[in-house]
Order: sequence, then structure tokens, then C-alpha cells
Amino acid sequence: MAKFKVGIERPLCISCESCVNICPEFWEMADDGFSYLKGSKKSGENEEREIDDVECNIDAAESCPALCIHVYENGKKIV
Ligand code: SF4
Repeated sequence: MAKFKVGIERPLCISCESCVNICPEFWEMADDGFSYLKGSKKSGENEEREIDDVECNIDAAESCPALCIHVYENGKKIV
């Protein structure tokens, strides 16, 4: 099991593109105008994926004005 999990509550995204600018390796704007976490899978209304190295996702989560990006380390929410 990967050390980190990153998720987005897409219904809360306000399309500001901050995450995409800060962390383009993981984030892009999707055709529907909201942010998409590359390689993620749907989990209810949200999308998430597991990753071994958190890289820029903490910065992306902390920069999100809608607070809709979440990062978990070993199952514990850190952002
Ligand atoms: S920073 Fe947050 S609100 Fe802005 S595009 Fe990314 S997920 Fe959406």
C-alpha cells in the first residue's frame, strides 16, 4: 500500500487553476472546467489515487482556496 493518498472533492472546485500551476505533474484542468488529479479514480463524488511520494501535492492542497484537495499519510489526514 502506498504511503500517501491524494483526493479531491470535485463538486467544491472553483476552477482557479492554482493546483495546476503549482503541481502540474499531478493536476490538470479537465474538459468540464474543473481540476482533475491525473491517474485518479472516482470514489463517490470525489476522485483519489495513492502515491508513494507526495511531491508537490501538499503545496497544491494548501494553496486551494476551496480546500477541496486532501492529502493523507499512512491513512491520517495531513492537509
Ligand atoms: S486549487 Fe482547488 S479550487 Fe483551484 S482548481 Fe485546484 S482543486 Fe479547484
